[in-house]
Amino acid sequence: MTRTSAQELSNTELVGTIEQIATIISESHYVVGMTGAGMSVESGIPPFRGADGLWTKYGVPRMDGYSEFKKDPIGWWNRRTNEKIDAHIVELRDALTSAKPHAGHYALVGLEKQGYLQSLVTQNIDALDEKAGLENLVEIHGNRTKLRCIDCGDRVSLGDFVPLYAPDSCIKCDGIVKFDTVMFGEPIPSDVMVAARTEIDKADCVLAIGTSATVRPASGLLWIAEAAGATIIEINPIETKLSPICEVSLRSTAGEALPLLLQSLSD
Ligand SMILES: [Zn+2]
Repeated sequence: MTRTSAQELSNTELVGTIEQIATIISESHYVVGMTGAGMSVESGIPPFRGADGLWTKYGVPRMDGYSEFKKDPIGWWNRRTNEKIDAHIVELRDALTSAKPHAGHYALVGLEKQGYLQSLVTQNIDALDEKAGLENLVEIHGNRTKLRCIDCGDRVSLGDFVPLYAPDSCIKCDGIVKFDTVMFGEPIPSDVMVAARTEIDKADCVLAIGTSATVRPASGLLWIAEAAGATIIEINPIETKLSPICEVSLRSTAGEALPLLLQSLSD
C-alpha cells in the first residue's frame, strides 16, 4: 500500500507513484474510471460541499426538489426560467456555462483511445467529459445539457440552448419532461444505474478521481468493486473515506496526474 501526502510529495515521488499506477493499469484487463466533484472544481465549477462549497456559502437547499417538481412541473419551470431561483443555483449555472474541459479530461480521452480505460462513470453533470470527447460514458447524476422524460426515460440534447418555457411533454409517451440532472430526492434513472453497475462488475481496476466517495448510491459502487476483487486506485489531493481500500492513493489533482499517467503509459 502506498501513502503520500501533498506536502511530502516530491517530484520524484510523484513520478514513482504514477509509474506504479501505470503498471497496475497496463496489467489490468478492464479499467473503469469514476470521477467526482474534484474533477469539475479544476474547471472552475464550485463544489457543493467543503470550505468553498456553495452550501457552505449559501446554506444547504431543501432536499425535496424532486417532489416539489413532480407536484407542479409547469410552476417549477416557470420559477426556473423567471430567475426566481436560489443564489447558489445562479452561481453554479454561470460557472457551468463558462466551464471548459481541463488537461485531466483530455488525458482520460487519451487513455480511452489507447485502450487503457474502458469506460468512465461520472458523478458530474457538467457534460465536460462528453465535450472533451470521451465515448464510453455513464453520467450517473445526469447531464445538464439534456432533458429527460421522467416516465419513459427518453433524453433530448439541448446543446447550449437554455429553455425559456416549460418544455412540451415527451414526444414518445406524452410524459413529464425535466432536466436530465438528478434532483434531490430523485432516484437515479434505472438505465444509468444498470449501466454503471454493469461497468463496475466488469472492472478488475477502478480509477477513482476527485471523488470524496460520500454520495450514495454512486460511492457504493466503489466498495462493490473492491469486494469483487478489483484493484482500487485513488487520485485525490486529500484523504477520503475511500483511501483505506485503495491499493495506491496519489495525493494530486486530476489535471496534474492524469497527463503524466497518459505519458507514462504511452512511453
Ligand atoms: Zn416519455
